Amino acid sequence: MSRVYNFSAGPAVLPEEVLREAAEEMMDYRGCGMSVMEMSHRSKVYDDIIKEAEADLRELMSIPDNYKVLFLQGGASQQFAAVPMNLMKNKKAGYIITGQWAKKAYQEAKMYGEAVELASSADETFSYIPDCSDLAITDDMDYVYICENNTIYGTKFKTLPNTKGVDLVSDVSSCFLSEPVDVTKYGIIYGGVQKNIGPAGVVIVIIREDLIRDDVLPQTPTMLKYKTQADNDSLYNTPPCYGLYICGKVFKWLKKMGGLQAMKEHNEKKAAILYDFLDQSKLFKGTVRKEDRSLMNVPFVTGNDELDAKFVAEAKKAGFENLKGHRSVGGMRASIYNAMPIEGVEKLVAFMKKFEEENA
Ligand SMILES: *Cc1c(COP(=O)(O)O)cnc(C)c1O
Repeated sequence: MSRVYNFSAGPAVLPEEVLREAAEEMMDYRGCGMSVMEMSHRSKVYDDIIKEAEADLRELMSIPDNYKVLFLQGGASQQFAAVPMNLMKNKKAGYIITGQWAKKAYQEAKMYGEAVELASSADETFSYIPDCSDLAITDDMDYVYICENNTIYGTKFKTLPNTKGVDLVSDVSSCFLSEPVDVTKYGIIYGGVQKNIGPAGVVIVIIREDLIRDDVLPQTPTMLKYKTQADNDSLYNTPPCYGLYICGKVFKWLKKMGGLQAMKEHNEKKAAILYDFLDQSKLFKGTVRKEDRSLMNVPFVTGNDELDAKFVAEAKKAGFENLKGHRSVGGMRASIYNAMPIEGVEKLVAFMKKFEEENA
């Protein structure tokens, strides 16, 4: 067996320990004689898995009692519609456009009400986070929406916007559990898990209870009503059982690693290795304004498309996979999520140094 260093933006690298454990339990989960994939989601065994996953997540993020945790399907993209359908009482919301995912959410929301663009960094290809200290937010807005870590462009909100008392909804798909968060600052935190937590197919929604309502927009599908999911503890229909089981294992791994504060330190150390190299390199350049740099997704370029392609190809041969930048921006992107070990980044930087010398 040989494993590569996988810098994919998602689905992405998972802790080896988790994969090994899942492999061991594949044929016979703890004496049940079946795989978790094969068992009823109404069984006692599965009930323990989902309850424990929720308890561990609550502990990791210090989620207050007045927030519900929902384990859903449909990816982060399904939430682009679910959020306005459930929350747009006044049919008006503010969106901060910091990249493609925020833009998609904004466009989707326009189908359900008035989505107001409060700020945008489109003018400089989303290479920075706009000043959000005094936006034109009005009381009649049902929520203010952000994409907290911009997977494609590699920016991250280091301070949350001043929402002037309006509830904040945040897509944290690519920074989920990468550092501690104050859940009370949000109305909803949600994310697809395939970036930093588990296999694609699970989306986690953490929602303040008063936002779970019956008076959602007419024709909201039953499945998309947060109330349906909350009332049924995420078991209204069959949940993404196996994916959730892996998420549960990752939560346990995170607890063993020391929780989110330890993860943050680990991630800062890892990202610094790469950013420090980029800052002094004569060949490679980071593309993001320094103060807005993501700890998770690091885009960089040589400034020459051919050289970029050569780098990606040679890196692949050397065991560094998925370094090609998003199709919309080109260049390179190293996603260095929780499960990427420090030596993966150290070896990547050593490889980049060698490439720089050879191509000077
Ligand atoms: C990947 C990603 C999405 C889309 O996730 P899907 O699960 O494919 O719908 C949305 N937002 C962010 C920030 C992402 O990184």
